[in-house]
Amino acid sequence: MSQIIKVKNLSFNYEDKYVLKNISLDINKGDFVAFIGPNGSGKSTLLKLLIGDLKATKGRIELLGEPIKSFKEWDKVGYISQKVRDFNSSFPATVKEIIGAALYQQMGLFKVLSKKLETKIDRVLELVDMSDYKYQKIGELSGGQQQRIFIARTLITDPEMIFLDEPLVGVDAKSQDDFYQLLSKLNKELGITIVMISHDIYVISDQANKILCFGDGKVFSHAADEFDYISYLNQIKGDNSTLIPKHQHQRGDSECC
Ligand code: ADP
Repeated sequence: MSQIIKVKNLSFNYEDKYVLKNISLDINKGDFVAFIGPNGSGKSTLLKLLIGDLKATKGRIELLGEPIKSFKEWDKVGYISQKVRDFNSSFPATVKEIIGAALYQQMGLFKVLSKKLETKIDRVLELVDMSDYKYQKIGELSGGQQQRIFIARTLITDPEMIFLDEPLVGVDAKSQDDFYQLLSKLNKELGITIVMISHDIYVISDQANKILCFGDGKVFSHAADEFDYISYLNQIKGDNSTLIPKHQHQRGDSECC
């Protein structure tokens, strides 16, 4: 299936405040999508709608071809939140326990890891390059390392898509680079669809293949290789109400949602 996320005529309001107005968009399998737009333009709201945390006021969302109302394959959907968890160094859980906890639902009453699941934990730790930290307490890791562990926790259920809400706030530059390399590997080598709120020029210019611009309750979809981020920034500077990049008006060929 190529379209793994479909949004059709979606509107959402918090009480009487409209945040998203009649938006439609598609995300394909293997896409790396960046959500950009000013604060308050609805990026996190759309992400929460896509992971089922919020319910649409109007319109339709489909994940993996299934209306979200009846969607059950939530283990195919990963989510990494904005906030790096504030575990202090005395927090008792180890990396292995944090990742293993994601499997308890599948394991039912028998909360003892089988050899197979143990091997799976080793595999996901290897994927995120954190094998040496398996028995370390989560609170002893840096913010960037903790986010890698949460990616590993997500990977344990073999997700088709991972949503990330500005996952690197407060993380140092070197760890950010490493994290982006990891996302690129998951996207290119494992074919996992990545949807991320990010203002990082590197993500927008080098990693994403699709850019969704938010503003005025609308979302405009652009192919990343046609997107001029610098003129977009100039366009919105000092005026958050006009979000449509100039070249979109000129070309008129971008998909308008
Ligand atoms: P972004 O992620 O682009 O910064 P959000 O989706 O967080 O934007 O917020 C969109 C708008 O919805 C903002 O005006 C915000 O104040 C408002 N909003 C967000 N969460 C709530 C909430 N729980 N209740 C009421 N309004 C909210």
